[in-house]
This record gives sequence, C-alpha cells and structure tokens, in this order.
Amino acid sequence: MKKILVLLILCQFSLWSQDYTLIHESTAKIIAGEKAPLKEILMESYKKENESIRPYLVKAISLTMMSSGSKATSSYVSKISKTYSQDLFKFLSLPPLRDNCETCDSFGKTLASCNKCQKGQCRNCKGAGFISYGKGKSLTKRDCNTCKKSGFCGVCKGTEKLATDCRKCKTHGYVYDKTAFKDEATKAWQVLLHKSAELGLLNEFTVDQELLKQDEEANKKGLEWLNEITAKKEQWETQEEERFAAFLESQKKAQPKEEGMGEVVVESYIEGGSTPSLDHLCKEVREYLKAQEKKSKQSFLGSVYGKFLSDIPTVHIVVTEGFTNASHDYRQRAADGFFKFALMRADRNGYAGGIGFKLLDEAGNELGTAQNDTFTVPK
Ligand SMILES: [Zn+2]
Ligand SMILES: [Zn+2]
Ligand SMILES: [Zn+2]
Repeated sequence: MKKILVLLILCQFSLWSQDYTLIHESTAKIIAGEKAPLKEILMESYKKENESIRPYLVKAISLTMMSSGSKATSSYVSKISKTYSQDLFKFLSLPPLRDNCETCDSFGKTLASCNKCQKGQCRNCKGAGFISYGKGKSLTKRDCNTCKKSGFCGVCKGTEKLATDCRKCKTHGYVYDKTAFKDEATKAWQVLLHKSAELGLLNEFTVDQELLKQDEEANKKGLEWLNEITAKKEQWETQEEERFAAFLESQKKAQPKEEGMGEVVVESYIEGGSTPSLDHLCKEVREYLKAQEKKSKQSFLGSVYGKFLSDIPTVHIVVTEGFTNASHDYRQRAADGFFKFALMRADRNGYAGGIGFKLLDEAGNELGTAQNDTFTVPK
C-alpha cells in the first residue's frame, strides 16, 4: 500500500515536471521563431493541473494572438474566462497596455466653459433674478422662473464651467497603447521560459530571478495604478462639490462690500442673491467720472455703486472733499453732467423704465436732487 502511494506521488510529480519541461521547451522554440509549438502551449493553458503556470501561459498566448490580430482571440479569451477566471486577463487592464489619459488627467472628465450662458448668468433675466417691465411709476418686476430667482445659469449653476466627458478616452480615464502589445508579448514568452524552468525545477537551465522579480513588481505596480484610476472617478465628484462650494463662497464675498475708494460696489437686492445687472452700468459711470477728473484736473471721485431703492435701480455716486469744496457753479455743472451721463447710459443698457440717481458726500448726505432731466445742487 505504501509502495503504491509513493509510486503514485512519484508518478504525479514526474507528470507535472514533464509538463513544465514541455512548456519550457516549446516556449524556447516559439522564442526561436517556430510556430508549430504554439498549439501545444495553447493546449497546456487549458489543462487543469497547470494552475500555477496558467497566468503566464495565458498572458503569452493572448498577447501574441492580439498583436497578430488573430480571429481566434475572443473565443480563447471567453473559453479561459469561463473555465477559470476573468482575472487571468487582468494584465489587459494594466500598464503598459493601458496608460493614463493625459487629456483629462485620468478623471474621464474635463471642465469646459459653459456654452449655454454668459458669465454664468441666467439667460432669461440676465442674472438679475427678476424680469422688469413697464416704465417709470408703472415699472413692475416679477421673479424669474427660469432660474428661480437665483440669477444663475441652470446648466453650469453660475460657475461658468461645465464637466464634460473626455473625448480622448471616452470617460474611461485611460487609453490603450497598442504599440505596447508586441513588446509585451515578447516579454511574456521570456517570463514563461524562466517561470516554467523555476516551477519545473529544471536544473540545466539558469533561471533569471531578476527577470521574474521585475515581472512581479510590474504586476503589483500595475494593480496599484488600476486602483488609483478607479478612485479618480470618486475624486472627481468630490472635487466638483468643492468647486461649487468655493463658488458659492466667492459669491457671498462678492456681495455687499465696503465702499472702498473708487470701487464699484453692487449691493444685494434679493436676499442671498446678487444684482450683477447694475454692475455694468456703474462701471461705465465710474469710467466717465474718472475721465472727468482727468479733464478738469480735479480729484473728487469716491465710489460708484448700484442699489435698488424701492425697486428702482439707483446709481449712487459718492464724491470726496475735492467736490464739496469746489464752487457752486462747478458742482452744479459737474453734477448735472454726471446725472445726464448716467441717464443716457441707463437707457443704452436697457433700463427703459428709468433709473434713480443719488450724489452723496462721504458722510452719506445727498448733495442735490434729480427732477425730470435735470439735477440741481442747492446753493
Ligand atoms: Zn433668471
Ligand atoms: Zn452656464
Ligand atoms: Zn480622458
């Protein structure tokens, strides 16, 4: 009984080692350029007892098939996958066959400028959050339904940037390097040559341990790479959330500022919203005033800002002592000029319903009154 068992073990051992010898020898022939032993190797890759060496067999065979464009590739892949495991083809998902997509930094997505809006503003209300119609006293407003009063473009949520699928890698985050297939096939046969000698304890062949170690390392690194690529999808989501949070924060900061020297201040009309609609007009008025300062060689400009007073868009001009200390004649002419310019620009900017106008000193006192088309500064 004992004898039979020993014999059986020996027999099995010799069978295994014989397989390794066969694989090793066939591999050497294939490396030397023979085609016939490929069939043998293919049969070996199916054999149940070749579990330890199967990954190496499968890799060398399928890479050779793929780089030569063999039609039998897909049936081979599916047969091995079904009988054993899909994991045997994991090398196809790893570098150098796959590489990072440089276009999207492997996120699979990139940020593009929103093409549905200008400056992130709702197209319907141009960022105001409401629509105004009518003229003068009958000027009415209603909330903008398109953006639900936010004034933001619904597509980019006001951020002006939009996540778009990467066209280069079609959202995968990686690209295939087809040129790598051939080199990898050559490498795979070398690894198989040495691995079969190592597993089969073939004494007459010197195993290149360094080569096998490098192969193992490359595989390990490849798997780490794959994990990183997979994690990037989640990272993108987080990044996007952070980007939007930062945008909201910047919006909050951009709202009522202190009236700094010469700054265009846009005050909030809707609570929590902004009125960028007055921004442009105020900038124009400010530019005009700066030009007037230069022309008259006077310094009088404090700040310009827009604010809604009882629903009427009102341009506020704050002037310094340079203005208040000037002669009445100068103040009257200058103030009336400012007023007329503001009215003209308001009209051009679409405030057909008219605007309000206030000229203030730095303490906030009104320096005159607007009536019809004239601004009067009291003596
Ligand atoms: Zn809107
Ligand atoms: Zn947009
Ligand atoms: Zn990409």
